[in-house]
Amino acid sequence: PELSAARVRSTFLDFFRQKHGHLLVPSSPVRPRGDPSLLFVNAGMNQFKPILLGTVDPRSPMASYRRVVNSQKCVRAGGKHNDLEDVGRDETHHTFFEMLGNWSFGDYFKEEACRMAWSLLTEHYGIPADRLYVSFFSGDADSRLPPDDETRRIWSEIGVPPGRLLPFGLKENFWEMGDSGPCGPCTEIHYDHVGGRDAARFVNADSPDVVEIWNLVFMQYNREVDQTLRLLPQLSVDTGMGLERLVSVLQGKRSNYDTDLFTPLIHEIHQRSKVGPYGGRTGAADQGRVDMAYRVVADHIRTLSVCIADGVHPGMSGAELVLRRILRRAVRFCVEVLQAPQGTLASLVPAVAHSLGDVYPELHSEADRVMDVINENEVQFLSSLEQGGRLIHRTLSRMDYKHAVFPASVAWSLHRDLGFPLDLVDLMLEERGVQVDRQELDRLIQNDKVVLELQSGDRCQVMLDVLSLAELQRLQVPHTDDSLKYQYRLDQ
Ligand code: ATP
Ligand code: MG
Ligand code: MG
Ligand code: MG
Repeated sequence: PELSAARVRSTFLDFFRQKHGHLLVPSSPVRPRGDPSLLFVNAGMNQFKPILLGTVDPRSPMASYRRVVNSQKCVRAGGKHNDLEDVGRDETHHTFFEMLGNWSFGDYFKEEACRMAWSLLTEHYGIPADRLYVSFFSGDADSRLPPDDETRRIWSEIGVPPGRLLPFGLKENFWEMGDSGPCGPCTEIHYDHVGGRDAARFVNADSPDVVEIWNLVFMQYNREVDQTLRLLPQLSVDTGMGLERLVSVLQGKRSNYDTDLFTPLIHEIHQRSKVGPYGGRTGAADQGRVDMAYRVVADHIRTLSVCIADGVHPGMSGAELVLRRILRRAVRFCVEVLQAPQGTLASLVPAVAHSLGDVYPELHSEADRVMDVINENEVQFLSSLEQGGRLIHRTLSRMDYKHAVFPASVAWSLHRDLGFPLDLVDLMLEERGVQVDRQELDRLIQNDKVVLELQSGDRCQVMLDVLSLAELQRLQVPHTDDSLKYQYRLDQ
């Protein structure tokens, strides 16, 4: 019988806890605590950062952590890790996902970490070794970083053949927390969904056939402010594996959306829609568009549920603005593509709670509140859609149709005042067969749009890309002139 996602998760946690003496630490909320460099928690290590930086209060329980395991709620939308654009288009990136991880803080290092990972994947989960590819750090002459020969040797002793043990550079296989601080090489495990061939060239190549599943980071250096590298007194291991991807491997599915983490949700969405069932297609053609809508809505309702339960509400800046966009994007896909009635999104919350509530109980206890927040925001958005429709209609009725160029100021006001994504404005005008004064609109956008990059110690970029300078000042967001870059990006 197929391994359920719940069993996949508990097998991971039990393996490290019971077999290898790790302490189980619960997931932190997705709203980062005391870390202004982050919009959302985006990796299991976020809550352990003080340990790595050596800033833990000695009286805190964290001070005694040596071996730790957890499954962390992560959101990658906005900021340094922004996977929002991929969601729905591919079948491996979500805005919300669970990251399974094990840590050593000054305890075991490379050898034990690799052996445990390999034993879990191949013996406990039973993944055929010949479907796995492993990458290691090739070194980087420019930054005087040596290749990670030790990791290569360990994998080779474990039995990974040379053709499946692949060197990669800084971008893929070196991890740094920021411009300075702890850093080190990493080694990643990839799974070939196809098999029976040499798939080395598909590793780290954005192929749906060979998917990265597990990242093992070895923190061995500290990069000083003057950029010199020193060996850390305490060596640490930080790993992260995407649960949804692992489950797809173990359930023999090519797509995360075909696993039991998503199929009940997709079924519920179908029940409320007026279109055919989910077909698992990608691409721009009709069924591909419908299927993308299914994936987007299934993804976004998980993110909305988890975020709102953790106290991040759709709003006007930072993480809250990102969430507002996610909500509006989900509403549009429900209405425009799936032809589902108002209230659909909120009605999916119990299914999310059913799927994840045993592990993250706030999804049960906060479900009513989550549904209220979603419904309120949906009503608001739908009513501004209507208002926008009326505004367009009024403007058109005053225009001379023969030379119809829609005034840019009205299009801009749809965006600025009614909060429509710009591509929706385009679409609404296109549907009515009118062209907007593109040049003038671009000018308004250029003048008014601001991308704020808050450079922090974490080198993490916080992007608040619909705020004007005036709004920044009103919200008292710290910024300097040269940290502001004007940039226009089509709103999702
Ligand atoms: P990718 O290259 O596929 O974007 P990544 O290298 O950005 O992944 P890491 O930061 O190494 O990912 O995170 C560790 C693991 O978390 C990945 O190996 C993957 O299994 C999982 N993961 C990362 N991003 C996502 C996402 N957006 N949705 C689902 N799982 C993810
Ligand atoms: Mg990524
Ligand atoms: Mg990667
Ligand atoms: Mg990675």
